[in-house]
Amino acid sequence: MNSRGILIAGNWKMNNGPAATGKFFSELKERAAQAMPGESLELFRNGKLKACIIPPYLSLSRALEAAKMLSFPVEIAAQNAHWEKSGAFTGEVSGQLLAELGLSWVLTGHSERRQFFGDTDETVRKRTESLLTQNFKVIACIGETRAEREAGQTEQVLTRQLRGLFPSAESGASVYLDGRLVLAYEPVWAIGTGLTATPEQAEEAHRIVRRFLSEQVDTSAAEKAQVLYGGSVTPENVNSLLACPNVDGALVGGASLKPESYLALLVAGVHAAAGR
Ligand code: PEP
Repeated sequence: MNSRGILIAGNWKMNNGPAATGKFFSELKERAAQAMPGESLELFRNGKLKACIIPPYLSLSRALEAAKMLSFPVEIAAQNAHWEKSGAFTGEVSGQLLAELGLSWVLTGHSERRQFFGDTDETVRKRTESLLTQNFKVIACIGETRAEREAGQTEQVLTRQLRGLFPSAESGASVYLDGRLVLAYEPVWAIGTGLTATPEQAEEAHRIVRRFLSEQVDTSAAEKAQVLYGGSVTPENVNSLLACPNVDGALVGGASLKPESYLALLVAGVHAAAGR
């Protein structure tokens, strides 16, 4: 039993343009009317369950509008944001621009940003810190590569990435306590590969995260921090992952693209949240 609740977040990456986004939400609405368990509304209302979709920038407006038609709340998040509020940064998007659109959630540090677009612990920290200062809720991703896991460096890598996010206890505790910073443990070797971490591997990594928070930030922050698992989560394996006491939800790529599978993940979230 804990008070953290469950968050089911769908990262669409570079998929689902505005038209596909509109279709996704209409179908989600229809399917949810049939398949969403009755107790879900109460769980959403008391904050024990949260849903989030992270579309590409071009689809954000459509998603914000379409989500309003649902009978349950779905937060809409951006996939990244620059740390500066405005300026000469061609191709970038700032928190200020996202706020103008009506957004209050952003993802940072996804391994695809780190691998392909030069994000480092330092730029992830700058993005995360700037967004939190601007009152965004942030889902910050951490996770080891296959080579790092095989070299026995998982704890070391997670610790380095976490330390990078918040170098000092003073700046760190409140954002975990008030739920504005959610962490997502995403082993790089499990993303988009079909190689999900076993529940034991996920639980072990989440314990490392919580131990770090307890030792380096604050014990109540460690207890309160929501830590998601991401990496080839599907409707078939989600229940066993959400059954882990330190796993507080899922960050899902491929299986969040279609309304039927995202809904199946949400229904699993309802059951897990009801049991906490
Ligand atoms: C992700 O994009 O964060 C992710 C976990 O992708 P997938 O579920 O497809 O592995």
